[in-house]
Amino acid sequence: MPGRPLMEPAPGAPRGHGGGEALLGELETLVQDVVRTSSWWERHGVDCAILALSLLSVPAGFLSLRSENVLVLALGIIILGVCHYTLTVKGSHLATHGALTESKRWSRIWELFFVEVCSSFSAEYGKYGHVKMHHGYTNVLGLGDSSTWRLPCLNRYVYMFLAPLLIPVLTPLVAVERLRKVELRSAVRTLGLISLGLYAHYWLLLNVSGFRSPGSALLCMFTTRSLLAHPYLHVNIFQHIGLPMFSRDKKPQRIHMMSLGVLNLPRLPVLEWAFGHSIVSCHVEHHLFPRLSDNMCLKVKPVVSRFLQEKRLPYNEDSYLARFWLFLSRYEEFMVQTPPITELVGLQ
Ligand SMILES: [Zn+2]
Repeated sequence: MPGRPLMEPAPGAPRGHGGGEALLGELETLVQDVVRTSSWWERHGVDCAILALSLLSVPAGFLSLRSENVLVLALGIIILGVCHYTLTVKGSHLATHGALTESKRWSRIWELFFVEVCSSFSAEYGKYGHVKMHHGYTNVLGLGDSSTWRLPCLNRYVYMFLAPLLIPVLTPLVAVERLRKVELRSAVRTLGLISLGLYAHYWLLLNVSGFRSPGSALLCMFTTRSLLAHPYLHVNIFQHIGLPMFSRDKKPQRIHMMSLGVLNLPRLPVLEWAFGHSIVSCHVEHHLFPRLSDNMCLKVKPVVSRFLQEKRLPYNEDSYLARFWLFLSRYEEFMVQTPPITELVGLQ
């Protein structure tokens, strides 16, 4: 995306002095060189093609559910479940960051489609919570510290194994609750688009898949919408919680904030297809350059990891299983207690 700033500076971050700014500038030049020599297909095409393929597979999913054969039925559930997560997690995430297209108008259309129609969430609140707070104040306590993912009233097993099932039910309820804080016009639009998405899903199950009762259609909606809810919840907590947390008045410079406070998981094909590289194996790259598409995050990953390692800055990586056991064994410390603040002398 030539000419467009790659980074969204953390609000209030110190500018123009210190080694952090210079390092970030150096890294941005290297990444910008990769972006400049990449084609449209690499910058946006690959990810748009994955989303288009997911949309085009949806009819096959609904039609498979007509079958009496258990294997075909299971295939239909898997197709609809994976497509649901690709459209709602990968699609909504890229659309919220404006990473799908360089056109502002189309960015807005995709944002409303993926976030409100497909994900039953509010586009305004999604952008505020994710782009402004989580990206702007990564791991800053009380602002972008992933505390929305903490449910201290639940024990470790209930949280890790049962709580994910609440995601499809809670998402539209949280969205409706947040509507109190937005303008009436946006609230009416959000409510209309969320209802359209949910009703279309229900209607297709009754009229295309041949479900006879509302109960069975609703159960099928719930099953496909919670198919990848477990890894989705786990990945969201693995990426930041348990890493250094910062205080509001002494937060480090942006490059240190991202290098210390963000973790990459290894390449996990199904999760990367459905959630996008930027949420799985390229989360560090995504936090440094949030306007890059998933495919570009993967392309700049060697440049970013080499740079951070050469400058002796942390580049956090861990496996899904290692994080999973770590969270199960240190659940109280990570998910219940308030995390300790890491003070970095000279990096603020
Ligand atoms: Zn993001």
